[in-house]
Amino acid sequence: MAIVLDRDQGLLSEADERIGLECPYCGVYAHMSRQSLPDVDKIIADKPKHVGLVYQCDSCHAPVFLRFATRGFANGQVELYRNFVELERPKERFAFSYLPKDTEVLFREALTCYSSNSFNAFASMCRRSAASAFDALGEGGKLQGFEEVMTAQEIAGIDDASFAPIKSVLFGSGEEEDLPLLDRVQAGILLEVLKDMFYQCFVRRGKLTRALKVRRFFVQDGGGNLQSTA
Ligand SMILES: [Zn+2]
Repeated sequence: MAIVLDRDQGLLSEADERIGLECPYCGVYAHMSRQSLPDVDKIIADKPKHVGLVYQCDSCHAPVFLRFATRGFANGQVELYRNFVELERPKERFAFSYLPKDTEVLFREALTCYSSNSFNAFASMCRRSAASAFDALGEGGKLQGFEEVMTAQEIAGIDDASFAPIKSVLFGSGEEEDLPLLDRVQAGILLEVLKDMFYQCFVRRGKLTRALKVRRFFVQDGGGNLQSTA
């Protein structure tokens, strides 16, 4: 069940299995084809703990770098562990321009933490992003956020036990060092819930206001033109 780098035959893996990933460039879940392999003789001579392989996204053809731990070196071959680290993770996207300035700065940093798999740094930044959003919303802002998050829990059908740490991060009144430790799954839920809360509190209003302004502009402009050509 290993991956083998062979001096003469290149990369060999069981059943010629292909790697599928969410591409950090185009965001599509795509197959990755081999693009370049390291020099096997050099690796056998140096015996590094890790080697990097470059793949190419089948969707957008961008290079994708993966790092594998080495397992053994023998007879012109390097054996690699199957698990790899993606050196560039897909960036999380959001309509940042609708957020209040401070919230935007903090939430961008939160998403950078998430993309680097730093889930507890992410949770801390979510607490700060949420607090800044509640401030920007003014009186009743925290309550408005809480109601949006409760609605999201209901829509998504998440049970109370799984949801408790998420609520604690966003609405807990304790110090930041009291935040619960989050794993990858919980961080993923927190990410979607906070995006939804920001969407409901800021993006929806911003988009609707902008769209109505544009409609009004064209109605007025159209009326003026009609009069002038009549
Ligand atoms: Zn791609």
